[in-house]
Amino acid sequence: MPEKFLPFTYDKLQEIVKQFQTPFHIYSEKGLLETAESLKNAFSWNSGFKEFFPVKATPNPFILKLLNRIGFGADCSSMSELILAERTGITGEEIMFTSNDTTSTEYIKAKELGAVINLDDISHIPFLEEHAGIPDLICLRYNPGSISHDDKIIGNPKESKFGFREDQLFEGYAKCRELGVKRFGIHAMVASNELDQEFIINTARILFEVVVEISGKTGIRFEFINLGGGIGIPYKPEDISVNIQEIGDGIKEQYENIIIENGHPPLKIFMESGRFITGPNGCIVSKVLHIKRTYKNYAGLDSSMADLMRPGLYGAYHHITVPGKENINSKIKYDVTGSLCENSDKFAIDRYLPELEKNDLLIIHDTGAHGHSMGYNYNGKLRSSELLLRTNGEVMMIRRPETVEDYFATLNFDELDKFG
Ligand SMILES: *Cc1c(COP(=O)(O)O)cnc(C)c1O
Repeated sequence: MPEKFLPFTYDKLQEIVKQFQTPFHIYSEKGLLETAESLKNAFSWNSGFKEFFPVKATPNPFILKLLNRIGFGADCSSMSELILAERTGITGEEIMFTSNDTTSTEYIKAKELGAVINLDDISHIPFLEEHAGIPDLICLRYNPGSISHDDKIIGNPKESKFGFREDQLFEGYAKCRELGVKRFGIHAMVASNELDQEFIINTARILFEVVVEISGKTGIRFEFINLGGGIGIPYKPEDISVNIQEIGDGIKEQYENIIIENGHPPLKIFMESGRFITGPNGCIVSKVLHIKRTYKNYAGLDSSMADLMRPGLYGAYHHITVPGKENINSKIKYDVTGSLCENSDKFAIDRYLPELEKNDLLIIHDTGAHGHSMGYNYNGKLRSSELLLRTNGEVMMIRRPETVEDYFATLNFDELDKFG
């Protein structure tokens, strides 16, 4: 069983928890930059390649700035995410606005920022025209319906609420051109946490074919193709991580066979990889508050679903290790729980761990993407801080823990005194 990567030694961790109260999310700057570079290198054959980091994965301006410095843009899907990108200094075509069920104010903001607007539905073309005006550059989001490979259906995006049907794409691009659009892009994202490289490469092939087909039938020349996110990470120790270089090479081969071969002008390849970039480069450090023995053994942590929804929400697996007890057999079965009054507030169920005691530190791995960001305040639980372990070994707090005053910020207690 391969060991899970940890960016700090046991001694360093002791030093960090002396300085910062648990629980916290901690990200490794070195890990983030290395993973980001590996993605860039895998697509260095495409001179226009750009990653638009999906803000929702890790919506922290320090992380966004770190990634922006090496050339990544931001993929936003809400007003708050647009404003976060703007306040981080990311504007114009460094922003991809990939939204759905969008409000007029969001479109107006995206247009003001000069973001690349990616439309989710054909009805959004007149909606955008009415509220924000039609920009020069438009991207349409494609939903291929079903994805087959060698006549086998390998994915069924028909159940997905996102994107245009293929026939609607033809109509959509024609309509946009009529309205004065001069530059065109196409977007599709059909996978989520996908570890099958062939599936990812095959999806790119399908999209390249659609580009050639639309281009052939309408005369539209595409400037970019956005392959979205969805590259998986090995949450379980037995999962095998993707080889991003092989994915890049596989997509290059399809690009040459389809785009170049059919005489389409060069296409920029865009991506919106969230989980792949930040997922493995962040973890939660949490402390055991109580050991409880009833019908099962429970290890109750000082963290909860407020800090990580994925296990409770999707039954997602997150590996857990106990620093300092690496050499002790994992022979005791625990449910590792948070403190919400919800039985789903469990980080792990029936997990074999070394015998735990009060005050043991636990690492919940691979929480760098869709971790802190998905947290919520049910039961009045406050979300943890976020720390960044810099490449020079310093630890920086990049978001303080929430306080009860944050939780009350939307209430007006003065009104309560006058209330009835
Ligand atoms: C969620 C999302 C992403 C990121 O997905 P990952 O699984 O983190 O790679 C990218 N693009 C869009 C449109 C998304 O909704």
